[in-house]
Amino acid sequence: MVVLLLIAVVLIAYLAYRHQTLTVGGAWTAFLVGAGIAVSFSYEGLIILALFFIGSTIFGRLPARTFEREQEMRTAGQVFANGGVAALLAISALLFADDELVRMMFISSLAAANSDTWATEGGKRWGGRPYHIRMNNRTATGRSGAISPIGTLFAFLGSGLIAIFGSLLLLNGDWMVLILIAGFAGAIADTVMGAYLQEERLCGYCNTLTEEKSHCGHNTRIIRGVPGFDNNKVNTACTIVSPIVVLIIFLLV
Ligand SMILES: [Zn+2]
Repeated sequence: MVVLLLIAVVLIAYLAYRHQTLTVGGAWTAFLVGAGIAVSFSYEGLIILALFFIGSTIFGRLPARTFEREQEMRTAGQVFANGGVAALLAISALLFADDELVRMMFISSLAAANSDTWATEGGKRWGGRPYHIRMNNRTATGRSGAISPIGTLFAFLGSGLIAIFGSLLLLNGDWMVLILIAGFAGAIADTVMGAYLQEERLCGYCNTLTEEKSHCGHNTRIIRGVPGFDNNKVNTACTIVSPIVVLIIFLLV
C-alpha cells in the first residue's frame, strides 16, 4: 500500500514539474512532503493534502479581472511554506505517538494553509479593494496585511473544507469545529504578521512596492518589516500558529 502511494506521489510531483506548476526544487519538496504524509497517514493523509493542492491550483488558475494572473512556478520555499510543517507533524506521529492530538495538529496546519490560500485567491477575485489593518486604509488587492469581507469568508470556507474532510478521514468525524477555528486563526495570524512583521520592499527603479527581491529587472530594497521575514516565512508561521492553537485549546479543554 505504502509503495503504491509513494509511486503516486512521485508521479504527481513529476507531472506538476512537467506542467510547470512546480520548479525542480518545488517538485522535490512536494515529493518529500507527500512521502512523509503517505508513510504516516496513508491515503487518508494524502487525500487531505490533495484537497489543498488541487483546490489551490484550480483556484489560482481561475480567470481574474482585477489583477494579472500569476503563472509563476512554485519553488521549494513556497511548497514548504504550505505543507512542510504538516509533513513534519505527520512524521512526528510516526516517530513518537500517533494520537488524536498529533492528527488534529496535522490537519489544522493544512487547514491554515488552505484558509490563507483561499482567502488570498477569493479576496483578490471578488473582495474588491481590501482594507489594510496597519495602515488603516484601503490598499491594493493581494497585498499582505490586507483583509476584505469576501476574503475572510473564503478563509472560513477554506479552513472548513480541510477540517471536515480531515476530521472524517483521520478522526472519525471528531474535532471538526476546533480544527476549523484553529485553521482560521492561522490565516488571521498570517494577515497580522503580513501587516506588521513581513518585510516590504521598494523597487527604486519604478517606485513599486513589492514582496520580491527583484522587480522589473532591478534589485529592490527593504523599507520596513523584519529583514528576511518574507512571504514564505509568514506563510510557514501561519501553518505553525494553527497547530499551536489546537495544542493550547486541547490542553485547556
Ligand atoms: Zn520595478
